[in-house]
Order: sequence, then C-alpha cells, then structure tokens
Amino acid sequence: MREFILATKNEGKVREFNHAFEGTGIMFVSLLETPSAPDIEENGATYEENAMIKARAIAISSGRPTVADDSGIEIDALPGELGVKSARFEKGKSASEVNEIVLTRLKTAETRSTRYVCALAFVDIPAGREIVVAASCEGIIHYRQEGEGGFGFDPIFYVPEFGKTMAQLPLEVKNRISHRARAIEKLKALL
Ligand code: IMP
Repeated sequence: MREFILATKNEGKVREFNHAFEGTGIMFVSLLETPSAPDIEENGATYEENAMIKARAIAISSGRPTVADDSGIEIDALPGELGVKSARFEKGKSASEVNEIVLTRLKTAETRSTRYVCALAFVDIPAGREIVVAASCEGIIHYRQEGEGGFGFDPIFYVPEFGKTMAQLPLEVKNRISHRARAIEKLKALL
C-alpha cells in the first residue's frame, strides 16, 4: 500500500479520497498525522497555484508524497468577489449569513449561473513528479436556502440535473458529481 499525505485537517475529505481510491493500492492520511506541518499562505492567483503551493510545502516538510486541494465558488453576478478568495468572503460570518448576503445581492441579477471549482496538486519530491488537475461543477444560485447536508454554499447551490440544492442531495450523490469528485477522478487516472 502506498501512503500519501492529503494536505488537510478535514477527516471528511480524507474519507472521500480513500473511498475514491479504494482498490488502487493508494491510501491517504491527513495532516493530523504530521504534527509539524507548516502554516501556508494560499496567495496564488489560481486554484491550481494554491493547490501546488500547499502540496510542495507539505511534501518538503514531510518528505512524503502529498496531495493538496484548493476549491471555491464562482458566481457570475459577483465577478472577482469569490473564486480563489471564497474563504475570505466568508470570514467571520456563518454559512447561513453568507448565503443570505449572496441571495440579497442577486435579487436583481441578470444571471444566477455559478460553479464550484476544485484543483488538486500532487507532489512527490524523491520521484521528481508533479501533477495538477482541475474540475468544476455547474449550478444555479437558488432563490432561498434549502437542505441540511453539505456545508458552505451548498444550501443555495441548485443542481438543475437533480432539481435539488447540493445540501438536499445525499452525500453519496454529491460525492459523485461534485467539483472535488471530478478532480479526484482525473488525478486517479494520472496516478
Ligand atoms: P477549501 O479550499 O476546501 O478550503 O474551500 C474554500 C471555500 O470554497 C470554502 O470555504 C467554501 O466556501 C467553498 N467551497 C468549496 N467546496 C465547497 C462545497 O463542496 N460546498 C460548499 N462550499 C464549498
């Protein structure tokens, strides 16, 4: 079994990766198992750059092959405000407060189109190997918050294909169609 570090403290993400990589001979452990992980400033201009900054830093400090992710949401009616800066837009507010702000700002918007984007970077220093992939998941900003599942923008992220918000979909469905799921599939094919 090859063991890679997943540069996150979120055990939910580790479970999602391990589920996707079942049967491949690759398994992931979280940063909680590498207590000396450095704090990293995600100051890249793109999701890909941020994922690579994080993966390189952890691969260097741990000496082990590392996968890092960076994700965010793009809302076409709020250009430049979210994207790689999604987490900053939310700072100090609850998810529900952020979602209400978005709904209010979109009341008179001409477009409600949106997408989640996820980039994944893999760095294996001894092997001299770096990979970066990205994927997205298209949606529509809904007219109210609905659903209890997921996190963040999921209650207002409506998936037309299912007629439901991401927060209303069972986790196994989200984990099949999400930006992260699609990026994981791309990375898996390359690894
Ligand atoms: P991170 O890169 O996984 O930390 O995600 C950055 C930000 O993107 C989060 O704080 C959320 O606002 C947003 N985001 C990423 N993925 C999702 C998702 O699956 N649901 C809801 N929000 C997401």
